Amino acid sequence: MIQRITDRIWLIEGGKGGRYPYSHSLYVRDGGGALFDCGSDLEEILRLKREGGLRVVVMTHYHEDHYSFLHLLPDVEVWASEEDAAALESFDVLLDRYGAAGTEWEAFFRKLLSETFSYSPRKVARRLVDGERLRFGNTEAVAVIAPGHTPGHLCPLFPSEGVLFLADYDLTGFGPWYGDKPGNIEAFRRSANRLAEIGAGVHVVSHMTPVHPGNIGPKMAAYLSVIDCREAALRAFLEAPRTRGEIIGRRIVYGEGHPGPWFDYGEWSLLSKHLEGMLARGEAAFEGDRYVSIR
Ligand SMILES: [Zn+2]
Repeated sequence: MIQRITDRIWLIEGGKGGRYPYSHSLYVRDGGGALFDCGSDLEEILRLKREGGLRVVVMTHYHEDHYSFLHLLPDVEVWASEEDAAALESFDVLLDRYGAAGTEWEAFFRKLLSETFSYSPRKVARRLVDGERLRFGNTEAVAVIAPGHTPGHLCPLFPSEGVLFLADYDLTGFGPWYGDKPGNIEAFRRSANRLAEIGAGVHVVSHMTPVHPGNIGPKMAAYLSVIDCREAALRAFLEAPRTRGEIIGRRIVYGEGHPGPWFDYGEWSLLSKHLEGMLARGEAAFEGDRYVSIR
C-alpha cells in the first residue's frame, strides 16, 4: 500500500504491517525516482518503477529485511553510506558485521542471508558521508549518518518537505537493536537523541506504525528506556553466577516461547554488549565460565 506523505515523498508500507521480515520503504517521485530501502512490498516497488521510474536505491543500512528485493533490481544504481557500503558489496563482510562469522550461528546466518533473503553483492555507486546533500530533481535530502544500529546507518532528511526517515531507529515497543559486531549502546543513544533533536515535522520509521508526526522526544526516550530495562533484568539474573548458555536461555530480551538459533543469536548479541559495559565499569565479573553481578 502507498501512503503519500507529501506530494513527492511516498511511503511504501511493508508486508505484515512492517513487521520483520518486512520493512517500510520511501519513494521519492522526482528526478527519475529514488527508493529508500527495498524490503517493503515487491509488487508496489515494481509498479512504481514501471509507472514513475526508478533511478537509484538508497540503502539506509545493510540489514536483510531492508535489502530483500534488491537482487530483483539489478539495473538500478545503489547508494549507501561509506561505512555500510562494504557489507553490501561483500558477503564475508556482511557475515562479519552480524558477528556470526566463526560462531555456532554462522551456518544458520549464511543460509538465512543468502537463501531466504537472496543476498547478492552490489557495487555501491555512491558512498555517502554525514551532511552530504543528495539531489533528486527538485527534491533535496541531507544524509544524516546515525551510528549505533550499524556503523553507517543513514537517515535521510528532506528539509523542504520536513520529513526525516529514521529507518531502524524505529520507536517500536521491542526497543533498540545494537547487537551487530560494530553495534554500540552509547553510540545508539547519541544517534537517537540527535535524530529526535532535529525536530522534523514528520518522522517515518521502518517497522510497525510508519509515520510519527511532530515532536518525538518522549517516544524516543521511552524507546531508549528499553535499554535500561534489559540491563536491569540482566543484572538481577546475574545475582547468581550464570553461564553464557544460561543467559541466552533466560530470554531476557524476547521473552519465553522463542526457541531456535535466531533468538539465541539475538539474545547473546544484545546482552553481550551489556555484559561488556558492566565488566568494564566493574559492575560484573567473569569467573571460570560464569558471569556474576557485583553490588
Ligand atoms: Zn536494521
